[in-house]
Amino acid sequence: MTAHAVLSASGAHRWLPCTPSARLEATLPDNRSEYADEGTLAHSIGELKLRKQFVEPISARTYKSRLKKLQADPLYNPEMESCTDFYLDYVSQIALQYPSAPHVAVERKLHFTGYVPEAFGTGDCVVLHDSNLHVIDYKHGKGVPVSAFENPQMLLYALGAYLEYSLLYPIETVKMAIVQPRVSQEPSEWEMPIADLLAWGESIKPIAQKAFAGEGEYVAGDHCRFCRARSLCRARAVFCLEPERHQRQQPALLNKDELGDILTRAQVLAKWAKDVEAYCLNACLGGEDIPGWKAVEGRGSRIFTDQDAAFNYLVANGISDAMLYERKPLTAPAVEKLLGKAQYRELLEDKGHIHKEAGKPTLVPAKDKREAIKSQSAADVFKN
Ligand code: SF4
Repeated sequence: MTAHAVLSASGAHRWLPCTPSARLEATLPDNRSEYADEGTLAHSIGELKLRKQFVEPISARTYKSRLKKLQADPLYNPEMESCTDFYLDYVSQIALQYPSAPHVAVERKLHFTGYVPEAFGTGDCVVLHDSNLHVIDYKHGKGVPVSAFENPQMLLYALGAYLEYSLLYPIETVKMAIVQPRVSQEPSEWEMPIADLLAWGESIKPIAQKAFAGEGEYVAGDHCRFCRARSLCRARAVFCLEPERHQRQQPALLNKDELGDILTRAQVLAKWAKDVEAYCLNACLGGEDIPGWKAVEGRGSRIFTDQDAAFNYLVANGISDAMLYERKPLTAPAVEKLLGKAQYRELLEDKGHIHKEAGKPTLVPAKDKREAIKSQSAADVFKN
């Protein structure tokens, strides 16, 4: 069984703002989802490809047999090949930018105990050349886009890599990247001077001490999303429902009566929230300011500009006709899944076979990356 640190790098976005959360989570079961297992399998495939390319000479036969074993996993999906190829290409591009071969470490255990008590994590890929340190993380999930910008998980891995390699390399700059091919073909990147990284490490030391001791205040927010206590946490209930009635922080977990009460209230709250949301969306579209919110275009959809022409083109490019049909024609996103993002882009998007339709206006938190829709009447938006 793999040992886990109490203060994990992946949980840092939670235990930094909510210091008692890590100790509380440790008392609750870890209900792993199938998505997490899928991610682990994709990581293993990516690791094998990177190892073969950069770390150890693996004969074609051994590589094939190791890959075959991974492909026999019931969670295996051919899309994992194109995603991990993309990851391999990205790391290869980084390696090729240097005049001599960099040092590449894959699935490396990184200790950052100097900053966070008894803490370690596994860095997917670390690349070192002269004064440059690259920390690259592969994410297979597509539900939540993850940014490298000010990402504490990446910062902790970078600190761990610095502690491990700074005696051998004169590291001056750290370049962090999150490769999430099912979300974007452009990995999220962020870089900083090593002095800033070390200053950040110093700044979190007292917070990490508190978190390790399970001390401090429960603080709810976006970071509660994957917390094991998210359904039972009193602080989150206070945050969502009744600030004035549930001020006390103890006991940390809610009881069943309270849960029943919350469910009843939540139904009322959900309906009420929808009404408020519709009102605020119209207000934003009308040019009014709702603090913390803005109206943006929702997710768009893709359709073929000429389905027959696109399919004929695919067939002419070696894609079997049989693969393109089920009982009804595949949608554009389904064809993308079949081909992999790169081939989809090359054969369809780049050749103008895909038209991307704008999505419906949606109300989102102001920190959302999408640009706000300029003031216009709701009637205009829906007409368009
Ligand atoms: S659910 Fe509770 S314990 Fe978990 S991060 Fe949120 S406030 Fe903290």
